[in-house]
Amino acid sequence: MTTQAPQAVQPVKLPATLDEAVAALAAVPAAVPVAGGTDLMASVNAGQLRPAALVGLGRISEIRSWQYLDGHALLGAGLTHARMGRPDFAALIPGLAAAARAAGPPQIRNAGTLGGNIASAAPTGDSLPVLAALEATLIIAGPGGARREVPVSHLLAGMEMLGPGELIGFVRVPLLHAPQVFLKATGRTGPGRATASVGLVLDPARRSVRCAVGAVAPMPLRPLEAEQWVASLIDWENGRALVPEALRGFGEYVAAACIPDPEPAPDGTVSEHPPAVLHLRRTVAALARRALGRALS
Ligand SMILES: Cc1cc2nc3c(=O)[nH]c(=O)nc-3n(C[C@H](O)[C@H](O)[C@H](O)COP(=O)(O)OP(=O)(O)OC[C@H]3O[C@@H](n4cnc5c(N)ncnc54)[C@H](O)[C@@H]3O)c2cc1C
Repeated sequence: MTTQAPQAVQPVKLPATLDEAVAALAAVPAAVPVAGGTDLMASVNAGQLRPAALVGLGRISEIRSWQYLDGHALLGAGLTHARMGRPDFAALIPGLAAAARAAGPPQIRNAGTLGGNIASAAPTGDSLPVLAALEATLIIAGPGGARREVPVSHLLAGMEMLGPGELIGFVRVPLLHAPQVFLKATGRTGPGRATASVGLVLDPARRSVRCAVGAVAPMPLRPLEAEQWVASLIDWENGRALVPEALRGFGEYVAAACIPDPEPAPDGTVSEHPPAVLHLRRTVAALARRALGRALS
């Protein structure tokens, strides 16, 4: 017969404002914020995490919607994937809406949030390549009503961290009024985590193409040279036309930037990638080519 020690009941706070949530976290440094709980509770259930206390973010109405501000949208971190997938949001930020629609099965999309997706920073996080391509920034709430703004890419690269008691409050996204595409490959049919994903946005005002590749590295990768090369080929004045060879070239340029050729051995011999890596590289090339083709069509 086995006996198990009864688990201590975790205190749960349910603040109504962002600043109350920050104060609750500051008061109990071991407390952990929980939004939809889709990532956090999976870790708890797997025995990887045993939070001493929880601060639930689900009742903070100020972070469950969005507002417009000087050519930007300020998205609340508590927006669910289901909400971002709806047509009114898709008309605003189509790339993020497409990523939200691709994020897991319906029960996950109903609970999982934008802020949770960013804070978890999983390589397979579907919103992340789109946010990287949009060059979105985070508004982080801290103790005493403090707010600071950092690029999403800095948090994902570990150049900036969330400090004690800090929460992601909002995500600032530029409104580009131009096509945006998110495409994802999975290892199975139906909902699944990405084996590779691409977020691509056109920015006609800056005459730029911005692209980020997800799931192939710990953080989304921006193939900057490929972006600049293809932007210089696009006829921005006349329907943004591009010949098919250029689309193919873009896909291959992006794939080679994200999954470079192996370094030659010290004796000068050059080996090939293993078949699985070559397959991933072909997948990235196809996603990038199709994403640009759709954005320009
Ligand atoms: C079966 C299944 C399938 C999934 N499929 C996908 C998929 O296809 N694509 C995908 O992208 N994801 C997928 N996920 C992962 C998950 O659903 C998403 O990452 C989701 O967006 C997490 O949001 P959440 O609100 O549930 O986060 P939570 O689980 O509540 O929190 C996750 C982490 O973020 C922290 N956190 C939450 N909100 C904040 C905030 N505002 N500020 C600071 N820290 C915060 C929490 O403390 C915790 O560490 C899947 C998960 C499951 C269980």
